[in-house]
Parts: sequence; structure tokens; C-alpha cells
Amino acid sequence: SVDEIEESEFCQYYTIGKTLGKGSFGTVYEGTNLSTDRKVALKIIDKNKAMGLGQNMQLVSEIEILTKLDHPHTIGIEKVFETTNYLIIALELITGGDLGQLLSRCGQLDEDLAKSLFYQIITAVDYLHEEGIVHRDLKPENILLTNKSRQPQIKITDFGLSKIITMNHNLKTMCGTPAYLAPEILNSGIFGYSKNVDLWSCGVILYQMLSGELPFNNSNTNNNNQNNNNFNNLFQKIQESYLDFNEDLWENISPSAQDLVENLLIKNPQKRFTTQQALNHQWFVDFEEDPKSFQTEMLRKQQTILIPNQCNTPIKKKIINNTLFNNSTPYNNNIYEDETLEMFQSSESFAEINF
Ligand code: ATP
Repeated sequence: SVDEIEESEFCQYYTIGKTLGKGSFGTVYEGTNLSTDRKVALKIIDKNKAMGLGQNMQLVSEIEILTKLDHPHTIGIEKVFETTNYLIIALELITGGDLGQLLSRCGQLDEDLAKSLFYQIITAVDYLHEEGIVHRDLKPENILLTNKSRQPQIKITDFGLSKIITMNHNLKTMCGTPAYLAPEILNSGIFGYSKNVDLWSCGVILYQMLSGELPFNNSNTNNNNQNNNNFNNLFQKIQESYLDFNEDLWENISPSAQDLVENLLIKNPQKRFTTQQALNHQWFVDFEEDPKSFQTEMLRKQQTILIPNQCNTPIKKKIINNTLFNNSTPYNNNIYEDETLEMFQSSESFAEINF
């Protein structure tokens, strides 16, 4: 099946280099664009594996959203190729690791660094919301850093749980990563939720960058981590939305930074800050974004083209006809609540898929 890739049109555009990492249904390699000589990240996805995990629809929606994006702080996509068994996505190469790794190395971040990173995050989320995209899985692991210097630039990635919504559309699917879930997602079956869930997650990320700790965690240590009931304790704390600003951790942090955290972690989504309110908050008053952060090697939207290898039908159409994943089994559209709970792992995303 590697031959299949080597014989495909893909090889006229790129060469494959070293392995960068592994995801749940594929491997990411470094690659070189033969016409620009620019290094890229090549995500090679095994379609059958994605199908087996019931994540095929997610994959199609992720690619659709990625091709729409055009912002210096969201991951750039160059091309998508499809062979019988694989999807190959050529992405902007990001070499500085992710914010999760930075936080586990440093614990608390210096307030100025946190401000610079958070401003970029909110700028990107503001752009996504303007475009009608709710990310739904914002967490440090999905925020990539362009380099390891003192002024890293961020790129939001992993649009696997993202959704395009219209103005008053309410979402119901319970998904995300437990520690970053907004309280209204926990009741989403009844009331639904909207794009302000992303601002809650941003509040959790800001709290974590400034203090080195999560605002809501699972302190129930009696059970082993495999026990799904463990999350009840976390979810209860999120519902209560009580914020503890431990003196030892917060004493050297400015009151205005803490004020922004408090305005993002507001239980009532209607009262919670929007991206615009966050950008205009006093914490950013004397802050100017490093102009370097907009001098990006971002790949422009115009260059993005989909090249299905086998036929000319666009991906979306093919998925509807059940053929994209080369498997005639119908999709499992009903993942019931119990099964959803089994997907809970402290730092991993989960999705209850409703179509
Ligand atoms: P999962 O698919 O299970 O959610 P994931 O999101 O980490 O996991 P991928 O997006 O497939 O999976 O990425 C796997 C690894 O490849 C990442 O952890 C990272 O090390 C590397 N990687 C992914 N995208 C890039 C990129 N654009 N530039 C550099 N390295 C990348």
C-alpha cells in the first residue's frame, strides 16, 4: 500500500522525510514541496482506520474547515491527496511543539509571555467565530508554537471537533476534553450551546498559563483513572464554576489578568466575555502584537486544491455516497452515552457523534 502513495500524483508535488509524530489514525511526516522547496508536515491518514473508529465524518469536516481557514494564527493547509486507502494532507510545518509541552516544562508562564500567547489565541478564535466556526476542543495540546524562542507564535490546530454554525444555531453534541468543557456543554442535551464555549476553554487555558494549574480538576483520587465516574467530580466543579485564586500562585499576577480570567469563566454563556470584549480588555491596553507574528509563511487559500486521485467527485459528495472510506459498511451515527463515557480520558478529546 506504500506503493499506492508512491505511484500517486502526490509524488509529483512532495517528497516524504522523517517521521514527526503519530495520531490516532495516521502518521505525520516531514515533507518537502518540490516546486517551492518549502518544508511541510504530511499527515497520512489510513481511511480504513478512521472508518473503523467511526471518525470518517469528522475527518471530512476537518478538511473542509481547514481549507476554509486563512489566518496567521490558524494552521495552514496546502494540498489534500486521496489514494485508495489513504488521505494525505500537506500542512504548514510547525516546529516548536505545543503549548501543553511548554506548560509541562515551565509550569507557570511569565505574565508577558502569557499575554502575548493569549492575545494571539483570542485573535485566532475571533477570526474563527467571525467565520462561523466553533472549535470545540481548544486546549494547550491543540495550540502549536512556531519556535522555541522567547516570543513564540501560536497556530491553532485540530479542527476535528469543529463545526460551522449559522447565527442562532444551537449545538447539542457533547464533545471536547473534560477539563476544558464549558458548563453548558454538560447540559447540552437540554439547552444546547453556542460558540461562547470556546471562550470558556480560553479562560481555562489563561488560568493555566498564569498559575500553572487547572481551574477545575478531578481531585477524586480514590478510584483508578480508568473509572469513568471520576469525571463526575470534575463536572460538578465545572457546573459550580467556583474559581479559587490561590494566593501563593496568584500573588505576583496582575489584578487585570485575573479580571480577564473571571470574565471568561462565567457560567452564564450570555454574560461571558466575547472575543471582542477579551481583545478590548484592560490587560491588553498597553500591549502591541509583535508584527513578526503576522509575517507568516502561511499558505494562501488560493493554493489549496483538492485532488481526489480516483475520480473527480469532491470529497463531500463521495462521503455521502459512502465510498470515500473504501468500505461499504454504513456509518455508525449513534454513539450512545455509555459508549461516549468510555472515550473519556483526562487529556483526550471525545465526541458523541450526532448527525
Ligand atoms: P489524534 O489524532 O489522536 O487526536 P494528534 O492530534 O496529536 O492526535 P495528529 O494531528 O495526527 O494527531 O499529529 C500527530 C503528531 O504529529 C503531533 O503530536 C505532532 O507531533 C506532529 N504534527 C502534527 N501536525 C504537525 C505540524 N503541522 N507540524 C509539525 N508537526 C506536526
